[in-house]
Parts: sequence; structure tokens; C-alpha cells
Amino acid sequence: MIREEFRILLVDVASGKGKIVLLDGRNEVAGGSGLAALLYMQYGQPELDWDDAAQPLIFAIGPLTGYFPLMSKMVCSFKSNYHGEYTESHAGGRAALSLRFSDLDALVLVGKAKRLSCLGIGANHLELKDAAFLRGTDAESSGKLIRRMFKGGSGHRSIMRIGPSGEVGSAMACINVDTYRHFGRMGGGAAMGAKNIKAIVIHGDSDFDVPPGKEYARLYKEVYTKVTSTDMMRKYHNLGTPANLQGLNDISSLPWRNLQQTSDPGISSITGKSFADNTLLRNGACSGCPVGCIHIGFIREKMATDNRYHYHQVAYDYEPIFAAGTMLGVTNSFDVLRILDVMEKVGLDAMSGGVALGWATEATEQGLISAKETLVPLSFGDAAAYQQAARHLGRGSNDFYRLLGQGTLKAAAVYGGGDFGCVLGQEMAGYATGELFFAAQTLGFRHSHLDTGAYSYDQKNSDRDITRAVDFLIDDEPGRAFLTSMVGCLFARSAYTEEQLAECLRTVGFDKLSSSIPQVSEHIRALRWKVRARTGFDPDNFAIPKRFYQVKTWKGVVDKEYLDSLKQEYGRRIQAIIAGD
Ligand code: SF4
Repeated sequence: MIREEFRILLVDVASGKGKIVLLDGRNEVAGGSGLAALLYMQYGQPELDWDDAAQPLIFAIGPLTGYFPLMSKMVCSFKSNYHGEYTESHAGGRAALSLRFSDLDALVLVGKAKRLSCLGIGANHLELKDAAFLRGTDAESSGKLIRRMFKGGSGHRSIMRIGPSGEVGSAMACINVDTYRHFGRMGGGAAMGAKNIKAIVIHGDSDFDVPPGKEYARLYKEVYTKVTSTDMMRKYHNLGTPANLQGLNDISSLPWRNLQQTSDPGISSITGKSFADNTLLRNGACSGCPVGCIHIGFIREKMATDNRYHYHQVAYDYEPIFAAGTMLGVTNSFDVLRILDVMEKVGLDAMSGGVALGWATEATEQGLISAKETLVPLSFGDAAAYQQAARHLGRGSNDFYRLLGQGTLKAAAVYGGGDFGCVLGQEMAGYATGELFFAAQTLGFRHSHLDTGAYSYDQKNSDRDITRAVDFLIDDEPGRAFLTSMVGCLFARSAYTEEQLAECLRTVGFDKLSSSIPQVSEHIRALRWKVRARTGFDPDNFAIPKRFYQVKTWKGVVDKEYLDSLKQEYGRRIQAIIAGD
């Protein structure tokens, strides 16, 4: 039966006790992103430090989770140690459906466990188990041990865990979800580590009803056909997002060697096709997704003990290949996977880690740092060195790596080289498409390439119309905020139009929400920004490093005046949203 209230499990990990809270607001914030912001309003401590025990760590799903294809994601929100402000991160895997099968809309952790612990939850139970013996254990080995600690329910069970990065408080620490998905950006792993929580196991041990009658079955089939028959979805399944590597290289928009270039002939050995031809083992999918865009490759490692080989599975996507490949000048697909494998094990966000190591390499070339800091000499293309450096960065092996783990520009403030730190609010995503993307990632809500469609706008527009470009960002955001409140995969945004979402919500039983999507979308967008503003957001705090003004794309060299005007105008419009104008 459809419940209008949100059913929240609030757990104080200091005591190991939890309680169910029923919360109103379905017709105002929908769920997912909107619910996470509402929960931070309720339980957040904007004035306290990110690692204060009172800060909540929030996981939320949406009203369509489990009911329709690709409604497979979960939102994690927290006060980030990257910039000290409220943020969100999204992940797939089994977590969202496990929470649905636990009869919950959200999980909120407060407090700090006395010792490193693992939290297990289900529809009717909660247990906090001592996991001090897992301290320092990598995410892969931890996963094996946690599966033994929490037996049963493997079909609907989800395991979210951190690696050593999260334990040492790196602002680049991710939360690994079911091995191949992540809450990657903005230091979610550190937020979990600050609570002394190594893993959260969601058992998904209950059921949920689907709407009675034929209408739901008909609509499900219609949506299923739509998401599996479009060219876009075929692309995500076949070569996957790595198909973008060749295309972006062709239009001089692919960052190479710390963004010193935007195109390079070396692309031929790390295109989506070459990854698929050489390394692809199988496709995977988030629960409830018929597309299966997760590409899992293999690497072969010689065992230290004898002459046998060990085969290891490593997931790849466009962004990790950019970060551990082109950004570092690494052009062998197996080498890229080896670097990603290390990042996966230490629990380091691949995009942030790769971009940070790109800066460290150029800083080395310029004599600002040396092996005294990096422990291993870094040079573009040296994949073996990057494997070691990624391990040091993830584990925070020395003062330099601990500082770099707080953010590239924090390290640059001490060692120099801020001009070539490839940071747009956070370490850049793999799109050197031009001015609008640079402005949008710098000020976007999550500093994510998926906050807006700016990377696509840049590829289609060469005029310099500031109002039109910023209108595009502003108009694009509410629809995305609503979809991430459902919580749908953003790859399906062309299938889930407003009309489609309204029909899905109505069929499941959320009549009022289905008839007010435009107003609710605007409300969620404003709420998220207001929550962030409470934790200190000011667009003037985010500068664009000089390197971005030197970038040459298919449109020519970046126009400084245009970029600065876009950033200023976008910041002004965001502030107007926060002020409620
Ligand atoms: S398209 Fe990919 S990321 Fe999106 S839900 Fe499906 S498997 Fe997960």
C-alpha cells in the first residue's frame, strides 16, 4: 500500500539504537534529492564541522524506486569535508532496491560509533557489529569479510563500504556500493569514516506491493520498451560511456596530461572500442535496470608466490578512463584498469584521484615537488608509478598525500602550481568542452558534470550569448532535480519526460505529486540551494584556475571575458534562487 509519509530509519551509531520516524512532505519534496535536503534541514548542523558526531549521513530513495526501470539510484547527502558545505552524491548498485525492500524511504545516521563498526539493517532489525579488525583493510577484502559477518539475503542485500581513504578522512574518499558502483565525489567515504562506520549492510528482507490492476503492468511494459529500444540506451549497453572518448578527442575536448592538451593520437589504444575488444569480460547492471551499462574488464597479475596468474575484474566507464588514462597520459587499456583497481581497493574516487595526480605530475615537471613528496617519481605515461601513487594518495602515506587528498588546490596553496590545478569546484570531470561547462561545473550544486547539460550545450553552440547560455543552465536544473528525487538514473532522462513521470507517479498512487511536478521541481531546486547556502555557499568562493583559460577546443581558445561573464551571471542567478526571487 502506498504511504504518503516518508518512513525513515534514524540510527544513533554511538548507542547502536534506532527508531522509525514518519515524516510529512511527500507532495513538497517527492523523495531522493528533495528528501535528503529536507532531512538535512531537520537533522543537519550547518554551523558545526563536517566531522562533528552530530552531523547526519543521509541515504534516500524515491517514490518510484523499484517500481519502474532505471529507478535504481540512491542519494547520499552530508556536509562535505571537501568544501565544508552541504552536498549530494548518487550511486546505483543494489542499495536503492534494498532500502525499498526494507520498507524504508531513507536511512539517517547520527553520532559516532565508539570503535570501527559495521551497521546491518533490515525491515525489522538493526545491529551494530564491532569491525575494528577491518581497520586499514581495502574495500575488496573488506567486502569478502563483511559478507561472512552478515549472512543471508544475498539477492536483495546491498553492502556499502569504505576503504582506507574514508578511514583517514580523505576528501576524495568514496563509498563503494556493491563493488562496482560508488558514491564517488565530495568525500562521502570520509563522512562515513567520521562516524567510525566501515560498512552498512542493507538486507532488503521484506516485500513491497505493486499497484493492483492491469494499468501498472501496461505502463511498466511501455517504459521498459522505451528504455531498451532507444539508440541512446543501446550505446550505454554496447560500448558504454567510453564510446565518448573518441568523440571528445576528435573535437578537441578530451583532457590530456593535466589538460595541457585536448586531443592526442594516443587515443587509438584507449577508445571505448579498444577497451571492449581487449579488456571487456561482461556487463553488469544496477538492480531494476535492463540496460546494463556497467562494463567490467579484467586484468591479469602474476602471483608473488609462484608463476601462476590471477585474473581480476575491474569496472570501467568514461570518467575513470579519462582520469586514470588520458589525464595521466596512460594509453594502454590494461594499465588504466590497473590504476583503477588500486583506487578501487583504497576507496579513492577515481576522477578526483586521477586529476590530483595529473597536477602532481606537472608540479613535478616544474620542479615544485619531487619524489621527496610523491615517494615515487611521477611522469606522464608511467602507469606503474601511478599505481603506487594512487595507493599513497588513498592511504594518506605522508603529509603531502594527506594534503593532496583534501583537494588539489589545497596542495597547490602550499607547494605552488595553483594555475594548473584542474579544479572546477572540485577536480574536473572529463569534459574540456568550453566556457559553459567550465562555469557550470564550478558553480553547479554538486560540482558534477551531471548537474546540467553544459557539456552538451558547448558542443552544439559557438555563439557567446550569455543570457541564453545561463538560461539553459537555470531551466535545465529543476527537471534534473526532480528526476534525482525519484531517484532515476540520469542516463534515462530522455525517456522519463515530465509527462512520463506524471503517469508513473499516478499509476503507483501518488496522484497529488503527479499533478504538481513543475512546482515541486522548483521547490526541490530552491530547497537544495538554501540548505547549501546555510552551510556557507558563496559563488565568489570558487575561482577558475588559469589552465582553463588556456584550453583550446573545436571553437578555439577559451574566451576569458565570456567565461568570466558566464560564471558571474550563473552565480547571480543561483543567489537569486537562494534569496527566493
Ligand atoms: S544505465 Fe547503468 S548506471 Fe544507470 S541504472 Fe542502468 S546500469 Fe545503473
